Amino acid sequence: MLRQALAYIEEHQARFVQELLEFLSIPSVSAQPEHARDVHMAAFWLAEQLRHIGLRSEVLRTGGHPLVYAEWRGQDLHAPTVLIYGHYDVQPPEPMEQWHTPPFAPELREGYIYARGASDNKGQHFAHVKAVEALLRTQGTLPVNIKFLIEGEEEIGSPSLGAFIAANADLLRCDCVLISDSAMRAPDQPTLVYGLRGLISMEVTVRCLERDVHSGHYGGLVQNPIFVLAQMLAQVKDAEGRVRIPGFYEDVRVLDDEERAALARVPYTEADLMRETGARCAFGEPEFSLVERRGARPTFEVNGIWGGYTGPGTKTVIPAEAHAKITCRLVPYQDPHKVAQRVAEYLRSITPPGATLEVRVHEGGSPAVLLERDHPAVRAAVRAATDTYHAEPIFELEGGSIPVVAHFRDQLRAPVVLLGFGLPDDNIHAPNERFSLQAYQRGIEASARFLLEMSACCAGRGA
Ligand SMILES: [Zn+2]
Repeated sequence: MLRQALAYIEEHQARFVQELLEFLSIPSVSAQPEHARDVHMAAFWLAEQLRHIGLRSEVLRTGGHPLVYAEWRGQDLHAPTVLIYGHYDVQPPEPMEQWHTPPFAPELREGYIYARGASDNKGQHFAHVKAVEALLRTQGTLPVNIKFLIEGEEEIGSPSLGAFIAANADLLRCDCVLISDSAMRAPDQPTLVYGLRGLISMEVTVRCLERDVHSGHYGGLVQNPIFVLAQMLAQVKDAEGRVRIPGFYEDVRVLDDEERAALARVPYTEADLMRETGARCAFGEPEFSLVERRGARPTFEVNGIWGGYTGPGTKTVIPAEAHAKITCRLVPYQDPHKVAQRVAEYLRSITPPGATLEVRVHEGGSPAVLLERDHPAVRAAVRAATDTYHAEPIFELEGGSIPVVAHFRDQLRAPVVLLGFGLPDDNIHAPNERFSLQAYQRGIEASARFLLEMSACCAGRGA
């Protein structure tokens, strides 16, 4: 079964690339209202592709951009069901002048497809579509039941998806959710992500005066809120980057030796960090490795600070207030609400006399997600990846967040497998986004292998 599918993938590779180029030429930018029609077009284009290869597919309306849903069900009542999630919307392409070729005129160059959305996420989920096609065309059947749920709002925070999943848990019922929307550490190093950080965000305002005043008349006589805010923020971390807020690390999950050893396999060095960011050296809690800090330690970051006069020339003013935007990345077991409270309480406790502090915690904080590493579906992914890339996958904790993962796990009570086909230098969200042809082809192969492995290892729940 596998041999025929792999031969089909090989034989049809050129067409698979052409089809992806066509998909990429639709500017489905979800954030920009002028592209609303293009977003719809992309949904219908994808639904038609899924129908063409033999799935029942439809474009479902939401309050925002539509969802593409497709499924294939076999006769075998015990066959497991795999739900594949992805997103067909893309980030805005700006700044345009930095693209070497136009973002929606996809181009093949030196083994890469250059286009907005190539890696994030059209190329990655389309690889699964092509794997399903290869299996269906060569066998006339699939080893598992398949459901595709491809949304059009991921890049704007998936506002419709949580409610859709909650209202359609029966439709979406499955034995495993497969998501390819992350990166491999290297082209030959398959990577399974098993944790994602959560997030809280807030805005703080320090006020010392009722109005801006003359810095000559009042300088040296009253407090300057920019100074007060800077001094407060400076107290939050020690010189090595540890957060000093009491209780900040209280619920943080402690890594055991086994997990630390597994994370030590992730090939990531200070040199990588410096190359990627332009930083002159690494900074942060020295008792944890870079990989541990990214995935298993919470952060306190100031994202912006403003106040007073910042226009051209000089203005001799003492401003009345100063502001900062703050976000904290959270790790497993931390409660977003509790952390926000701890941060607010601490800032309040160090606000000096003569200053008032206002803390506004933004809605929509999300907890971190920790996924199983030894579920049969994860083991199926390990085998599929090992056979495809001829290397055992590493397990990694991701520093960012994919809020939808928690929805799938909690609402569908199914294990989530995060097996990405992208690479760290794919320039996602940046000019000259790309996806390597090799990554695309291997992604299709890994997907076909995974579906076959799933049928061998996981009995269905009667989805
Ligand atoms: Zn993205």
